[in-house]
Amino acid sequence: MNYFSGHMSELIEQLATLPGIGSKTAQRLAFHIVSLPEEKVEKLSKTLVETRKNVRYCAECFTLTDSERCPICSDAKRDHSTIMVVETTRDLAAYERTGKYDGVYHVLHGAISPMLGIGPDDIRLKELMQRLNGDVQEVIIATNSTLEGETTAMYISRLIRPTGIRVTRIANGVPVGGDLENIDEVTLLRALEGRTTL
Ligand code: ZN
Repeated sequence: MNYFSGHMSELIEQLATLPGIGSKTAQRLAFHIVSLPEEKVEKLSKTLVETRKNVRYCAECFTLTDSERCPICSDAKRDHSTIMVVETTRDLAAYERTGKYDGVYHVLHGAISPMLGIGPDDIRLKELMQRLNGDVQEVIIATNSTLEGETTAMYISRLIRPTGIRVTRIANGVPVGGDLENIDEVTLLRALEGRTTL
């Protein structure tokens, strides 16, 4: 890569560290960035820094948010007795896009994977259990239909069952191995409506 200037090489290298960005895409992005007016690049870099600085985990559901509690947890109109457990904030966004779910969420930030050495303590599971005292009536497990997602669902249902709270699993309308965020809204809704008690 030494046929580029030092700055360009550095920029390409940095961009290529991002997920899904190979060296060719990194080069294309770098050339695009240097062709932009300086103000535009400043705005972009400022947004990156400010977002990283200000975004944090919601104290209740652990989704990414700008304040102590996210807009969903702060909304009194949402049904706080139903908690949908998802792996990532992107999965939460997928269900929010359907506009048909009015409960709240819990974001695990991962799934249990013995193969990758990710155990129950490495995801936000303890925090979920801490939310289960009080008015919670149903926990809907909406982890992905991957081996990790299913393992996590079984583990959570076993943890919650003794509490007497209803535990359900979204239906198999979601294709095996599918990431929730890539699934269309109708399929997501069908999976939610067809959920079964674990
Ligand atoms: Zn929240």
